[in-house]
Amino acid sequence: MHVEALHIEKRSWVEVNLSQLRTNYQVYRDALGHDVEIMAVIKADAYGHGDVHVARLLGDCGVKLFAVSNIDEAITLREAGVKGEILILGYTSTDHAQSLFDYSLTQALVSVEHAEALRAKGLRIKCQFAIDTGMNRIGLDADDSAWCADVIRRYASCLALNGLFTHLCVADTDAIESVEFTRKQISKFKDVVKEVADLHLPYCHCCNSAGGLAYLNLASKDVDVGKIVRLGIILYGLKPDISNELPAGIRPVLSWKSRLSLVKRVRKGETIGYGRTYRAESDRIIATVTTGYADGYSRRLSNRGIIMLKGCKAPIVGRVCMDQIMVDVTDIPDAKAGDEVVLLGCSGEVVYTADDMAKDLDTIGYEIVCGISKRVQRFYVNDGKL
Ligand SMILES: *Cc1c(COP(=O)(O)O)cnc(C)c1O
Repeated sequence: MHVEALHIEKRSWVEVNLSQLRTNYQVYRDALGHDVEIMAVIKADAYGHGDVHVARLLGDCGVKLFAVSNIDEAITLREAGVKGEILILGYTSTDHAQSLFDYSLTQALVSVEHAEALRAKGLRIKCQFAIDTGMNRIGLDADDSAWCADVIRRYASCLALNGLFTHLCVADTDAIESVEFTRKQISKFKDVVKEVADLHLPYCHCCNSAGGLAYLNLASKDVDVGKIVRLGIILYGLKPDISNELPAGIRPVLSWKSRLSLVKRVRKGETIGYGRTYRAESDRIIATVTTGYADGYSRRLSNRGIIMLKGCKAPIVGRVCMDQIMVDVTDIPDAKAGDEVVLLGCSGEVVYTADDMAKDLDTIGYEIVCGISKRVQRFYVNDGKL
């Protein structure tokens, strides 16, 4: 599909590179044992990348297991024709038991009470018990594995129980204490799995991207990560933690672009934007960008962030507005209205990724990409073509 041909006004948009997504998947796929399966985590609209597009591409690559955060996301995927298992990682109330059943979704059971309430609906809903091994978020407390086993057996057949999972909370750092904690989490989980081995539950899984990275790709191959890894952030080419090294070939999938609406001279002593927080120390050339905080561009980047243009970086001057940002292009030759600029991605040799922006904002890449708002258009590039 050619975008200009459709007369879509490109004000602030994201380009999702599906070829890169395929590469990221493939790099990880190749690093895993043949008997290890990938569950693609595509919650929050595939971390802002567009869940239906991502699910279709990964489905074509052979992925049969998907995970989302809630029933709305799950139904969106089913209605778009996504096949395979769709696991809802978060809570769904019994009000939606019929939909869980009708759409053949798999529901995470967050507690005994949750399991009991769903059971009482009398539908054999596909389910997986969350097992809490130290995150203290959802799940049965793994410290009492015999009790866990008891509960699991009680619901195994009245609900269509097909698996167990736990979530690691410090797998993204290699501090000794964290590595110890993660090993303990995995071993607690395995104790529970062992207790109910006779049930032959097909889907038992504990590793996220970070768990996969630290315990399987790079360091200690001695840890058994199980037969399924749940991959989110790494499929999108971002780091679970800023300290992580990504395997060669894995790169960000998403670029965020916008335009200059105007370029003008600002004289020495003039101020720019709300609150007059920037004052020109000398005559400057200032450009206005057609993206703002309503697009998910953090206002905390006021007077701090950069955008890219013609292979150069232009600093943000003044406050980020709701729909516009001003940048200093004094050192960039030929900047003119209509020019395409890059907010995340690369321009020539210059690179600024969601991980870089996360560092500047003291957060994580996840929050940056999930925060790009709905009004930012998503375009899909495959093999270099839109
Ligand atoms: C979000 C999530 C994942 C994916 O985590 P990444 O760090 O993006 O790989 C895995 N499991 C659960 C339970 C999650 O909530």
